[in-house]
Amino acid sequence: MISTKQSEQSRISAGTKVKLKNYPTDSSDTDVAKELGEDAVKEMAANALLESRLHLDAVQNLLYASDTYSVLLIFQAMDAAGKDGTIRHVMSGVNPQGCQVFSFKKPSVEELDHNFLWRYMKALPERGRIGIFNRSYYEDVLVVKVHPEWLGPGQPTNPGKKFWARRYEDINNFEKHLTRNGTLVIKFFLHLSKKEQKKRFLERLTNPDKHWKFSDADLAEREHWDDYQKAFEEALTATSTERAPWYVIPADHKDVARAMVAEIIVKSIQDLKLEYPKLSTDQLGNLEIARAKLEKKQKSAAAATPQAPET
Ligand code: ATP
Ligand code: MG
Repeated sequence: MISTKQSEQSRISAGTKVKLKNYPTDSSDTDVAKELGEDAVKEMAANALLESRLHLDAVQNLLYASDTYSVLLIFQAMDAAGKDGTIRHVMSGVNPQGCQVFSFKKPSVEELDHNFLWRYMKALPERGRIGIFNRSYYEDVLVVKVHPEWLGPGQPTNPGKKFWARRYEDINNFEKHLTRNGTLVIKFFLHLSKKEQKKRFLERLTNPDKHWKFSDADLAEREHWDDYQKAFEEALTATSTERAPWYVIPADHKDVARAMVAEIIVKSIQDLKLEYPKLSTDQLGNLEIARAKLEKKQKSAAAATPQAPET
C-alpha cells in the first residue's frame, strides 16, 4: 500500500499539464487498499512512517556530517489539508539542531516593500541542514493570484497572464540557482477534497479542543475553492521541473499522506549518495597519535590511583 511506486506516481514530471481531477485525494480508493481494509492500511502507514523516521534521522546526520548539501522542503495546500501535522509527524525523530521550520503568513509592510522572493531568501537552510517552508513563495502565485488586490504597492492592479508567467519564471530561475548551489528542493502539494475539508472544518467547530484552529478567513477562502484549484494547476504545471519536482500527495487520509511524504524525503536525500567525510593518511596518523596519548594517560592515571588499604 505505502509503496515506492505510489510515491513515485505522485511526482509530476516536467512538462506535464496538471489536471488535479486526475490525481486522487483519497488514497483508500484503490483495489489493494479496499482489499486490505481501512484498519490494515492505517497500521501499514503508521509502520512505514516509523521506519522512514529512523532512516530520516540517519540521513539527516549524514547530511550534517558531509556538509555539502542543504535540503529545502516546501509544503503547500488548501486550509486544513494537514501541513502542520505532516511536518510534526514526519520530522519528530530528527535532531532539532538539524532542521528549521518557517511558516509564512500574510507579508508585512516591510516585506511588501521588497521583491517577492526576499523574505524567503532570508530563511533558506544553511549547508548540512533541512529547512521547511510551511507555505512559501508559491503563495505569491496562489493566494495572490486569487486575490490580486493583495499585491504590494507599485504592482499592477489588474495583472494579466504575462505578469504570472514572469513570476513562474522567477521561481524556476530561483530554484535553478538553489539546486545548482547545493540545495535539494522537494515540493509537496497536499491534495485534499472539498468534502474532506468541510468535514475537518466542522470538526474544528464542534470539538472544543479544536476551536482554536477555526478561522473565519478559512471559510471565506473556501468560497474561492475553484479559483484556488485552478491557480494550483497552473503553478504546478509551470514549476514542476526535473531539478525541483512537485509531489501531489493524496491528503484525505492523514496517515498515508504522512508516510508518503516521509518516504519521498528519505529517498531523495539517499539519492544524493552522501558519504561521511574521509580523512587523509596524515589525518588518520594524527588520530592514531591522539589515541595512543590518551591510552597512555589513562594507564598512568590508573597506576597513580591509591590502592585501598589491605585489612
Ligand atoms: P494554520 O494551519 O495554523 O491555519 P496557516 O498556514 O493556514 O496555518 P494562517 O495564519 O491561518 O496559517 O494563514 C496564513 C495566511 O497567510 C494564509 O491565508 C495564506 O494564504 C496567507 N499568506 C501567506 N503568504 C502570503 C502572501 N505572500 N501573500 C498574501 N497572503 C499570504
Ligand atoms: Mg489557516
